[in-house]
Amino acid sequence: MMYEFLLIIFFSVLGLVLASFGNMLVYRLKTRESLLTRSHCEFCKHELGPLDLLPVFSFLLLKGKCRYCRKTISKRELSGEIFLGVIAALWGYLYATGTLDLSEAVIYMGFSLGIFVIAISDALYLEIPDEMQIFLILCGILNILTHGNLLGSIFNVAFAAGLLLLTFFLTGDKKMGFGDVKLAFGLGFFLNYFYFTLAIFISSVAGILFALIVSGGNKKKLLKYLVPYGSFLSIVVLVMILALYFANCDPLVFNGVFC
Ligand SMILES: [Zn+2]
Repeated sequence: MMYEFLLIIFFSVLGLVLASFGNMLVYRLKTRESLLTRSHCEFCKHELGPLDLLPVFSFLLLKGKCRYCRKTISKRELSGEIFLGVIAALWGYLYATGTLDLSEAVIYMGFSLGIFVIAISDALYLEIPDEMQIFLILCGILNILTHGNLLGSIFNVAFAAGLLLLTFFLTGDKKMGFGDVKLAFGLGFFLNYFYFTLAIFISSVAGILFALIVSGGNKKKLLKYLVPYGSFLSIVVLVMILALYFANCDPLVFNGVFC
């Protein structure tokens, strides 16, 4: 009991650290800044020390302001850290209770980091960095090599990418970017084609509802609004994989009854 509890705490702390790193990746992949330079405040450029870089805690300690210039730090980063911390705690629970083995837990932590950066980048800039697409595919290949069925997975990946490619050609490149096709290719390694279709359906409905809310029912605004579809799809896939494990189903297998 104690051991399981400590494992879950360990995973959630790791999730917070990954989220902090992920927030930096979002920013630096966009600005093409090197990953090796020291972290600095985005307003006053003051270099940040270890006490300024603790996920969640630094934000609380500094009451959401930069220690040097007192500018307000966005709450988005804080909510992102909490989100990934919770997701990581759930992976930790699945590992601690024996649903996942160590290699799966590690791969899913990497996968969650990839999803985190992709979802935020798409929401902020309507762009998914290619580096993260490649990272997701590498996690996917590891996932198949450690616990997948190769032929089934080739089919799942081809199905997922094919489905989005078809949508891409049908809608023209105005509404949907090619980034979403690449994203589907990476996600295909993690979900059986049946669940993937379900994820496409759920994220499309969520995306449409979101666009309706944002545009306030104004038709002109609605037609102009570009939905960060990659954000919706990647988050839906992440939550779906977790939900399937909690329901004792394997995300890569579907036998037609319940899972
Ligand atoms: Zn500052």
